[in-house]
Amino acid sequence: MCGIFGVYNHKEAANITYLGLYALQHRGQESAGIAVSNGEEITTHVGMGLVADVFDKDVLSRLSGNISIGHVRYSTTGSSELRNAQPITVKCSVGRISIVHNGNLINAERLRKKLESEGSIFQTNSDTEVILHLLARTVHSSSGIVKGLLQVLPQVRGAYSLLLLTPEELIAARDPWGVRPLCIGKLGSSYVVSSESCAFDLIGAKFIREIDPGEVVVIDKKGISNYFIPVERENYAYCIFEFIYFSRPDSKVFNQTVHMVRKRLGHELFKENPVSADIVISIPDSANSVAIGYAEASKIPFDTGLIRNHYVGRTFIEPKQSIRDFGAKIKYNPVKEVLNNKRIVVLDDSIVRGTTSRKLIRMLRSAGAKEIHLNISCPPIKYPCFYGIDTPTEKELIASTYSVEEICQFIEADTLHYISLDGMIRATGMNGRDFCLACFTGKYPIGRK
Ligand code: AMP
Ligand code: SF4
Repeated sequence: MCGIFGVYNHKEAANITYLGLYALQHRGQESAGIAVSNGEEITTHVGMGLVADVFDKDVLSRLSGNISIGHVRYSTTGSSELRNAQPITVKCSVGRISIVHNGNLINAERLRKKLESEGSIFQTNSDTEVILHLLARTVHSSSGIVKGLLQVLPQVRGAYSLLLLTPEELIAARDPWGVRPLCIGKLGSSYVVSSESCAFDLIGAKFIREIDPGEVVVIDKKGISNYFIPVERENYAYCIFEFIYFSRPDSKVFNQTVHMVRKRLGHELFKENPVSADIVISIPDSANSVAIGYAEASKIPFDTGLIRNHYVGRTFIEPKQSIRDFGAKIKYNPVKEVLNNKRIVVLDDSIVRGTTSRKLIRMLRSAGAKEIHLNISCPPIKYPCFYGIDTPTEKELIASTYSVEEICQFIEADTLHYISLDGMIRATGMNGRDFCLACFTGKYPIGRK
């Protein structure tokens, strides 16, 4: 999971990219970086941590130029260290190129071994660098970058939403399956490209459209031109988890507003599992929209039963003993007056390992909840993701080994209901054949590692 943002033709390109990354911070908190071109040179700055920690006024003032790309990272392939932070900027025979990538390639290791056996020297262990090496070998003149990309991209398989920066152009590409989102907007006479449209709202840009699956968009002095990656595929493979958890509810993703999809997930959940209860609550913030939807459909009042502390970083130190469940307590606190002696419907987006649900249910019980009915807005996650989402290995996924009844016992809920696959797809209003559903079904539309 990562977020990418780019801008073409803006006097304050780096500042705009900084703001864009701020809006995409939920997609990755491990590292952040910006590369900017002044028409001749590309300057890059990357660092570990949040956007606000990596960039300050001084750093931004050194990033001068009017074309820029940026990245926030949540590691999937490659370990968590500075050398894997993006953008990756290299100098090759055609000049400087910088790249950012959201997604994950399934054949990167094989391609890398082959390239290494032929003499390539890699600087990082991220799969993104493979694309740069292939490109550097294929492209022979600066006018041929797009031609090169159209030759290189059919060789890589998996999920990729990419932005490339050369001294004079911004190039955006999306894999033929459209696994990860990517959209284009306009800010005055500038173009902007982003993983999610919420970044456009922050900078006052107008959403134009999604970049199509398989499309390569080149933005340069001549304007916009587009090309298509020559790969055959039957259906798209949009990651349905973007709707369930990753994207911000105020974003438009796969041409749908995420909040509306999540509310419909709540409606579907009530249709499938109409619980009689006193209140509906959500596990904030990811399940807020779903809980509002469930409350709308059931006419059971929605209330705030858990408060989330938004300032918890990844760096807090957990006491070894004495304070139990510290990890959950630092993030959530129950509102006893709301919960005491109540029958509660709890909405959450997903259960991965099951440890969070168990801690939260204990917390709700200790606040006096009489009955706890947990409803989950995706089906049981049984299989790992190979397309850019950080899921644990199969045996760490609780639903890969345990039945719904056993999970219900483990998390200590009174009842547990997962939305059905059909119900989830119906809530999107889209064609089920155009989704990747592999973490629920084990059927990988682009193959697996
Ligand atoms: P757990 O079952 O304890 O592993 O935690 C599940 C919770 O983590 C879910 O309710 C989501 O809010 C959140 N979550 C789901 N998928 C991911 C992911 N890939 N990375 C980080 N958090 C996630
Ligand atoms: Fe998304 Fe799951 Fe497919 Fe990964 S396996 S791309 S998380 S739907």
